[in-house]
Amino acid sequence: MIPAWIAPLFALLFGACVGSFLNVCIYRLPRGESLAWPGSRCTSCGRALSWYENIPILSWVTLRGRCRTCRAPVSVMYPIVEAVTALTFLGGYLLYGLTPLGLVRVLFACALIVLFVTDLQHKILPNAITLPGIVVGFVCSLFLPPGWRDSLIGLAVGGGVLYAIAEGYYRIRGQEGLGMGDVKLLAMIGAFLGWKLVLLTLVFASFSGSIVGVAMIASKRGDLKYALPFGTFLAIGAALSAAWGTPIVDWYFGFYQ
Ligand SMILES: [Zn+2]
Repeated sequence: MIPAWIAPLFALLFGACVGSFLNVCIYRLPRGESLAWPGSRCTSCGRALSWYENIPILSWVTLRGRCRTCRAPVSVMYPIVEAVTALTFLGGYLLYGLTPLGLVRVLFACALIVLFVTDLQHKILPNAITLPGIVVGFVCSLFLPPGWRDSLIGLAVGGGVLYAIAEGYYRIRGQEGLGMGDVKLLAMIGAFLGWKLVLLTLVFASFSGSIVGVAMIASKRGDLKYALPFGTFLAIGAALSAAWGTPIVDWYFGFYQ
């Protein structure tokens, strides 16, 4: 008899290792570098890392966030991404069990983690994630919730609504408020989650975006232009919608049936 804690522990450990790979994506995709080659190296002195410097979270902690040879600081974002990915895998397992939908949702969350950090650090939402994401989300919906119809409408609504907002903002203000990266990200979210949850994602993202924007103005930390990029809010909104959105939209649309 296998103890009940084995599977959640395995989810955590496996998630931490996947988080390590996500860190590679986060560093290399915005720089146009290959994911497969070369192996992990110090980004400062270029020395190849040995196996014990590649252990998720633990290596960063034991080396106190510095390269062993050149002593260059290693961003705290690395262990954070590994820990968040580990918790994502655990959360996916607890919410969905070991099901096909659970695996798809965890894959979706991994894409969101990469996009959140690249948007935060470089204001880039790499096409290498969003475009395949749109296709994978739609193909998975042929067999799984939300179903291909909801997915297709979600893709069109997500991409279309944001495209209209971006275009309108540009015409009125004469400067770009939202990039095409945000449009592709929302189309990807729509493809994975369907049109109801993509609308909920927009609500979550706008709501949290306004709170942070107001807080930044109130604390005189700069105006809205320097606020966090919108893609980071979309990523968080989508993660919340994927995990807990279904009861909310069922409750909301229940009134009209
Ligand atoms: Zn180094």
